[in-house]
Amino acid sequence: MSDISNDPNEEPLQEGEIPFSAAPARLTVDLGAIVENWKTMRTLSGSARTAAVVKADGYGLGIEDVGEALYGAGAADFFVAVPEEGETLRRFAPNARIFVLSGIWPGTEEVFFENDLVPVLASTEQLSFFFAAVAEYGDYPCALQVDTGFNRLGLTVEEALALAGDVSRPASFEPVLILSHLACGDDPASPMNKTQREWFRIAASAFEGVEASLSASAGIFLGPDYHFDLTRPGIALYGGDSQPGTARRLKPAATAEARIVQIRNARAGETVSYGATCRLARDSRLAIAAAGYADGYHRSLSGAGAPLRDAVNPGGFGFIAGRKVPIAGRITMDMTIYDVTDVPESDIRIGDYIELIGPNLALDEAATAAGTIGYELLTSLGLRYRRRYIQPD
Ligand SMILES: *Cc1c(COP(=O)(O)O)cnc(C)c1O
Repeated sequence: MSDISNDPNEEPLQEGEIPFSAAPARLTVDLGAIVENWKTMRTLSGSARTAAVVKADGYGLGIEDVGEALYGAGAADFFVAVPEEGETLRRFAPNARIFVLSGIWPGTEEVFFENDLVPVLASTEQLSFFFAAVAEYGDYPCALQVDTGFNRLGLTVEEALALAGDVSRPASFEPVLILSHLACGDDPASPMNKTQREWFRIAASAFEGVEASLSASAGIFLGPDYHFDLTRPGIALYGGDSQPGTARRLKPAATAEARIVQIRNARAGETVSYGATCRLARDSRLAIAAAGYADGYHRSLSGAGAPLRDAVNPGGFGFIAGRKVPIAGRITMDMTIYDVTDVPESDIRIGDYIELIGPNLALDEAATAAGTIGYELLTSLGLRYRRRYIQPD
């Protein structure tokens, strides 16, 4: 949970004082921004209700704090990936409806029943197991996932239609939600979107009176035809792009920073880090920050040295003293080296924080430089950060 009190590392360093070398990186999660983003997605969802997707520990930012803040703001429907996440969330969202996307499997029934979790059934095998489990337990809600072209989870549309017309299914079987997932929601021009939507309409209309849900963050931006009864935003809540550029309408929710633990001068011609891949073209000043790929700062963000930087993939950047500074050479497990030659010497001191992602370095900009997506950067930040939560107003 929140860890903002009595943080000894928050004391400003005295002149000449050296921070301990295990100086932790810190992750600041703005719960107010997450709540605002949820409200933005709710407005964009029009007349549909808006759920919150908090799987993978709230996209890496902490399911407990994120779930509690969203629940407090009025979110009544949540999606998690696995029942254990639902069990954790239940403590912070006592009356919410919690859907478990991976469905129910032998051995997990108790976690479902004890925590009032709704399984999203996605295959005929899961249906059979669910029917057997509730035959003993009694009536129990479930959701159905239909596959409309993603080929991941879900009954085929044919199977769903057969189920709807199956008179031999248990009389008490009454799904509370039917859902599907778009493959190309990030690309408004993709013809896949309409095709999936039409297949979904066919499947959903066979379950009269059952709420329908098609859209994650990206689908919400596709417009009202994609909203149905319930929308399921995830990445948008955390300030990330689902369609290119959509994060600009949202607030950054996560700021990851690492401490500068050493500043060194190096001569033109010297090389930096493993593989000596970065050769310095000028006398340089390098700032060493205590975060690396074990902190989810992907090695693929590694940078070349000037002037190669202009010719090849420039790699990623940090932000310190009001400016962007390039990563020099390979990112290592626990350390990253920045070229701070262009920053006035008096502007950076040992112990300062350098921003890895945050308001000055957009999540998606860093993700693009790393050759990945914001989702992956957030969910790989890992456990070494000292976490701080800013409560909603
Ligand atoms: C992860 C997920 C979501 C949320 O997706 P975002 O792109 O993060 O908004 C919604 N629905 C399903 C089925 C998912 O797996």
